[in-house]
Amino acid sequence: MDKNEKLPIINFETVSKVYPGGIVALNEISFKVDPGEFSFIVGPSGAGKSTIIRLLIKQEQPTDGLIHFEDLNVTSIPRKLLSLYRQQLGIVFQDLKLIPSKTVRENIQFALEITNRRNHEINETTNYLLDIVNLKGRAHLFPDELSGGEKQRVAIARALANDPKLLIADEPTGNLDQENAEEIMSILDAINGWGTTVMVITHDNGIVDRMKKRVLRLNQGKLVSDEGNGMRKASEEKKKPTFLQRLNEKATSDDDSNDVEIDPDKKHEAEISDFLQAVKKQDKKLYKMLRHDKLDDIEKVLDMTDEELKKKGYKEKHLEELEKVVKNYYNDK
Ligand code: ADP
Repeated sequence: MDKNEKLPIINFETVSKVYPGGIVALNEISFKVDPGEFSFIVGPSGAGKSTIIRLLIKQEQPTDGLIHFEDLNVTSIPRKLLSLYRQQLGIVFQDLKLIPSKTVRENIQFALEITNRRNHEINETTNYLLDIVNLKGRAHLFPDELSGGEKQRVAIARALANDPKLLIADEPTGNLDQENAEEIMSILDAINGWGTTVMVITHDNGIVDRMKKRVLRLNQGKLVSDEGNGMRKASEEKKKPTFLQRLNEKATSDDDSNDVEIDPDKKHEAEISDFLQAVKKQDKKLYKMLRHDKLDDIEKVLDMTDEELKKKGYKEKHLEELEKVVKNYYNDK
């Protein structure tokens, strides 16, 4: 690559995804998204739009091709770093995934709490996010008490909690009238104006026409057009350390921990029991399964892909539990 050429934030290179049963969801698609861009992904139902998100967050693996997020090869991110990686992405899913028993404020705070921030920082950031999505006056309400547009705005605020480099919204205007849809789009446009790369999946041709942004059009798993490329805004990328730089810092500090004082064999022994004890506290059934499968060492678990674990009978909830334990385990170290 030319030295002056900017590293794309997303790079799909001849990516295909065939689901079990032979369903071709994506068929050799290639595209790049620059930092700071605003782009739409459009196409009929079943075209493969959501599959792009699933591959990008490594919820699914591609059958073929390469996916990069900045300089990171997404398909080979180890399990232990998946949650760190996903914090770089703010995703607003179609079903929003708001927690019904929590208020608007608590839904946003929840996303901040899992990153171990201090209370005053959590409160400050929550107020800031509520302000961005015009929900300050509705912070005490529960999701059921909100309109469709307001719910969507809570989900956007929550997706922004970790200051993601990329915000992806899946059908954010799906069930909204024009006024509410316009409000959502103007919030997303403002977020993009502050430097965050934004990608919107939509069916709404009216919105796409009015916004005059880049449009990637999918049909039956093929990228059939990529228009408005010349309109790339590419605002100046904030000088944040790249993800790899942060990972490298973390890896170095992990490596340094206790290496001098503790005999390596003993350290390994300690890790086995620490890890399994942590799992046992969280979920006894999962603990038994791991023992049965001789996955008694955190590194062995981290070497397994989701697919391999699922083949061994681990369910989605087990994988989520495991991810939590692993994350806490590394945070505690
Ligand atoms: P879109 O978001 O454009 O509606 P999707 O990416 O959800 O499309 O789906 C693309 C194709 O892949 C569809 O034919 C869909 O039925 C199929 N598909 C999606 N997820 C799965 C899955 N987990 N297993 C099998 N087929 C799937």
